[in-house]
Amino acid sequence: MLLNILFSFFSILSIKSDISPAFTFSNETDYLSRYKNLLIDIREEKISPIEAEMEFKSIMRFLKEEFPNSEKYRADQEIVFPLIKSSISAVGGKGRGFYDRKYNMFDHAVTGSHPAHDIFIFDPDHDCIDNRKNEYVDVVSVSHGIVLAVEKDWTDSSDYRGGNYVWVYDFERGGLWYYAHERKVVVVPGQIVQPGNKLGEVGRTGFNALNKRSDTHLHLMFLELDETFYPWPVNYYEWLKNAEFLTKSTKAEILKRDILKINRIRPKSLKRIETKQYNLKVDYKKKTEIALDLPRKRRR
Ligand SMILES: [Zn+2]
Repeated sequence: MLLNILFSFFSILSIKSDISPAFTFSNETDYLSRYKNLLIDIREEKISPIEAEMEFKSIMRFLKEEFPNSEKYRADQEIVFPLIKSSISAVGGKGRGFYDRKYNMFDHAVTGSHPAHDIFIFDPDHDCIDNRKNEYVDVVSVSHGIVLAVEKDWTDSSDYRGGNYVWVYDFERGGLWYYAHERKVVVVPGQIVQPGNKLGEVGRTGFNALNKRSDTHLHLMFLELDETFYPWPVNYYEWLKNAEFLTKSTKAEILKRDILKINRIRPKSLKRIETKQYNLKVDYKKKTEIALDLPRKRRR
């Protein structure tokens, strides 16, 4: 048994050394930069899908503990519609634009799914100004949450898909919202947002959104976390139908205190996170994570 463990451990080490540049698990307890680095590592394929999944789960575990669902934020609470002065008819394909087959957040090479809804503005001349409203359209947070990561500096020469984006960890639902293709982002990582707080403006940033055939829209995905912290896309079209439609956005407050608080997470004692392919041990004292490929024989 012990030999098995050692063997598995060293075989994982040797797999890791084949990846160049080698990915090392972050020593940082600042999970905002860990999350952003993870997104970049996935996009640039610097990290294997299994390593990406482990790092993701480790960050999500922190978040779930730091922001447990409370009575104040009920999971069945309705969301706010993500676009200002909009309507349910702005959702692409009457909600049929969602297909999540083959979606894998951790493997950039897997494409062809659209686990999201596209919510359009009326912009035939592609200048991002809604021609019926004669203004840019605000993207607002649909729920209470914390901004995990943003991209603000997308340019025409960037080849990544999401363009300027915002990731928000949802306090009510314990999942993640991904708002993509924005022309402008106005929040920063660590900011606490309320429903209706402005995140940015609908735009055409991102590899596909820039395409002439594509109409200007917000790409919005929600990922639910299961008990192993694995992210599953949710078709939230029914939520959109029942959403509150706003005519004006509000400004998110900057609460420095909260940013500091979440940046300084105390190391936790050794815990085991169950996963599908392997068992993951996280030693928060040494801040290392060791994968043991022993899914069959579990010791109590
Ligand atoms: Zn989309």
